[in-house]
Amino acid sequence: MSSLEYVQFYVRQAAQRLNIPDRIVRLLMNPDRTVKVEVAFERDDGEVETLVGYRVQHNNARGPCKGGLRYHPTVDEDEVIALASLMTWKTAVVNIPFGGGKGGIAFDPDQYSSAEVERATRKFISRIREFIGPYTDIPAPDVNTNPQVMAWVMDEYSKYYGFQPAVVTGKPVELHGSEGRLDATGRGLLYVLRAYLEKVGGDLTGLRVAVQGFGNVGSFAALCFYEAGARVVAVSDVSGGLYRPDGLPIPRLIDWVQRHRLLKGCPEGEAISNEQLLTLDCDVLIPAALGNVLTKDNAGDVRARIILEGANAPTTAEADAIFQRRGVTVIPDILANAGGVTVSYFEWTQNLQQFRWPATRVYAELESVLRQSFQDVWTMAERLKCDLRTAAYALAVGRVARATALRGLQ
Ligand code: NAD
Repeated sequence: MSSLEYVQFYVRQAAQRLNIPDRIVRLLMNPDRTVKVEVAFERDDGEVETLVGYRVQHNNARGPCKGGLRYHPTVDEDEVIALASLMTWKTAVVNIPFGGGKGGIAFDPDQYSSAEVERATRKFISRIREFIGPYTDIPAPDVNTNPQVMAWVMDEYSKYYGFQPAVVTGKPVELHGSEGRLDATGRGLLYVLRAYLEKVGGDLTGLRVAVQGFGNVGSFAALCFYEAGARVVAVSDVSGGLYRPDGLPIPRLIDWVQRHRLLKGCPEGEAISNEQLLTLDCDVLIPAALGNVLTKDNAGDVRARIILEGANAPTTAEADAIFQRRGVTVIPDILANAGGVTVSYFEWTQNLQQFRWPATRVYAELESVLRQSFQDVWTMAERLKCDLRTAAYALAVGRVARATALRGLQ
């Protein structure tokens, strides 16, 4: 099954449990709009490069579409539709007034200079500019895109439509970004796990955590858990991983990556592979890199008792079923990693109001939104006597279906 088929499987399952009429379910399955554009730009040597870019708007029943831009060679139409659909359900789980969108360009930006990535970004935005906007569709960062890329998005869009900071979130704080956006997804993972531990009884102190992916989500998750007293025993990135049973010194690893770009060669722990990291002896496993890394082939070997999904769609449906059988708790992506889009929402509102929040307010509001969302999912799980993923989808599909029915078909 592809990521899209997994998401559609969970949506159908949730709709059945809630007895949502088929005529509404059909409206929730497919994206409202798929835009595919050619992104032609000049290389530094004068050659012309042509790439393919996508923007998908899955559903806007609850508000403007919202979702990241991914720069990665695996980006294709199916993947972007699946990720856009996840955003519809994620924004509904945390009950913020957005629908789901996603976009990206199929390329590896590490193979291009910064000036080339800027030219590609600007061309892409000029091609999709009619379809995005502060009240229609608002991009944000995802894999291999960062605040600098968001600054180019804002600037390019503003060339056509005037000053429009609210067209994109995840911007640098110095350029209408929000305090607390950079670390929001990683920090949100901590808040969600805390809410879970309060329910089942448990303490963060000394909890052994392994994190796959050391980019925006993974590095801030590792840092937040480290600062909260957990023991981060392993981390990894595309170059491989590091393991230290008594806990890795995360600030030193972040410093290493800032200087060397990748974890490779860092002397702070024993080198391990990404596959080894997934099956390490630990309490909490946080996949925070790409999708489909927990599959039927390795789910039986995972030793963590809690999987906290930092990445989008890291667990296949087959692996999910194995985890349920084995009693491994999976805290699903559409709840666990929703901290990023929640602070993006705060950034958007600050831009529209031309008002700035201090970091203390951002963190307090983030924690309050995630706590409430966790409680809503937990209550749904008790009501339906089901796992947290099924409950999160039921909560989200119910909310989107109600908005869809209220708006009507015409
Ligand atoms: P990023 O580009 O900042 O970091 C990605 C990390 O994954 C890097 O450390 C990279 O080296 C590593 N990686 C790439 N390929 C790998 C592989 N094959 N094996 C192991 N590691 C690999 O991206 P990000 O923004 O941190 O996003 C990571 C995940 O979190 C994605 O699934 C994304 O959709 C999801 N997510 C991101 C946000 C956000 O706010 N950025 C919000 C919600 C969910």
